[in-house]
Amino acid sequence: MAEYDYDLFVVGAGSGGVRAARVASELGARVAIAEMDRLGGTCVNVGCIPKKLFVYGSHFSYDLDDARGYGWSTGSSFDWATLRANKDREIARLNRIYEGLLEGAGVDRLRGRARLVGAHTIEIEGTQRSAERILIATGGRAVEPEIPGSEHALTSNAVFSLDELPKRMLVVGAGYIALELGSVLCALGVDVTLVHRGDEILRGFDHDLRCHLHDELEAKGMHILLETRVEELRKTGSGFEVRLNDGKVLETDFPMFAIGREPNVEGLGLEDIGVELGRRGGIVVNDNFTSSVPSIHAVGDVTDRIQLTPVALAEGMHFVHHFYGQGDHRVDYMSIPTAVFCQPELATVGLTEAEAWHRCQDVRVYKSVFTPLKLSLSKRNEHTIVKLVVDASNDRVIGCHMAGHGAAEIIQGLAVAMKAGATKAHFDATIGIHPTSAEEFVSLC
Ligand SMILES: Cc1cc2nc3c(=O)[nH]c(=O)nc-3n(C[C@H](O)[C@H](O)[C@H](O)COP(=O)(O)OP(=O)(O)OC[C@H]3O[C@@H](n4cnc5c(N)ncnc54)[C@H](O)[C@@H]3O)c2cc1C
Repeated sequence: MAEYDYDLFVVGAGSGGVRAARVASELGARVAIAEMDRLGGTCVNVGCIPKKLFVYGSHFSYDLDDARGYGWSTGSSFDWATLRANKDREIARLNRIYEGLLEGAGVDRLRGRARLVGAHTIEIEGTQRSAERILIATGGRAVEPEIPGSEHALTSNAVFSLDELPKRMLVVGAGYIALELGSVLCALGVDVTLVHRGDEILRGFDHDLRCHLHDELEAKGMHILLETRVEELRKTGSGFEVRLNDGKVLETDFPMFAIGREPNVEGLGLEDIGVELGRRGGIVVNDNFTSSVPSIHAVGDVTDRIQLTPVALAEGMHFVHHFYGQGDHRVDYMSIPTAVFCQPELATVGLTEAEAWHRCQDVRVYKSVFTPLKLSLSKRNEHTIVKLVVDASNDRVIGCHMAGHGAAEIIQGLAVAMKAGATKAHFDATIGIHPTSAEEFVSLC
């Protein structure tokens, strides 16, 4: 082992990389980590955390409306610069926490872009280091559109550093990042138009939920154009002109493309040392996160599988426990709960109704659409949908879906029940907490 500088060298200090580096070091390995940007990666700097802070910030526009129905007079105004500055301060605090975690665990930190020059050798800013194992945790990046004028296309990253709110925003794409950031700006008064080439938003989610959310977003003022493509982007004196496939031309101040994310492998030198990459460039790994080169491993978004922070964390933990611990930490990819923090928020775990019909002989579906009690006094136009999908052969609940206030918090709990094999009879036998939206899940018939 002493022939190498380190036992483990991690490239990328995001969710998966920091977790793996810290825990491996705590288990006794000699560890270094290289990061070319801020500590914490996508999630902390331009992903989950700043996004959720913006979601909270923007939701006050609806809360203030609700407050009036409860007798409050509110003469408040909104200042984007304050929200952004407070967000930046919080992210800087988190960056320092990550720094402290790595330092506290005794991980060596190297700043700069890393590149592999051998199966055990990494080069950072002209200096070489060697390691018995190398873990690639370089995450993903936004896919760029291939259209004339693509150099003007912005990504989700730009939302987090906006100096002032645009008047008009164009969102291209209808996945969770598109809907979340479109919802944030829409709630803050920006005129948001969403353009999507598919026939409904949120591909892969349950059909009822997709349609429900579509209606809710339109009710909040978002313009949604389906089966529409952007063909050209042009900069004008006052903003941008966007030519669509039907010949229409839209004007916007902020063209954000959220058309998917791809693995961040560019410039890593992986092909030169024989690391097998998948169709979209993701590092192909086995169950223990080992690539086609035995000393090179990968976790998180760079493997192009499930692009979520808790998945990157779980993979980092599995990798570390397999190679430096007791090997008892497996990643269970079944029924991973997930949320879309648009307004209203949507969360889901398990199979959609369509997937269930594909896999089961017989399926029972229960659903309810209602106005949450909280909105009964404010009369704000928003509805909640809850839906359960049940395998009729054994009564097992195989899908829980919700769009409405608190959906993510509720579905996280139901995900545990599903993991434990809950049946519809278990749901029926559970006494509800009244009055809540969650109780609908235990009174569906
Ligand atoms: C707008 C947005 C919102 C999101 N919201 C959520 C959410 O609500 N919930 C959720 O679970 N997930 C969310 N995600 C996804 C989540 O952020 C990622 O799945 C997660 O960060 C992946 O972790 P990772 O460790 O694979 O990579 P990352 O966290 O992306 O870290 C990769 C790191 O590697 C560094 N790096 C890259 N190349 C090199 C190199 N050559 N040398 C040195 N360093 C390098 C990068 O600078 C980066 O810091 C969101 C993503 C985005 C973009």
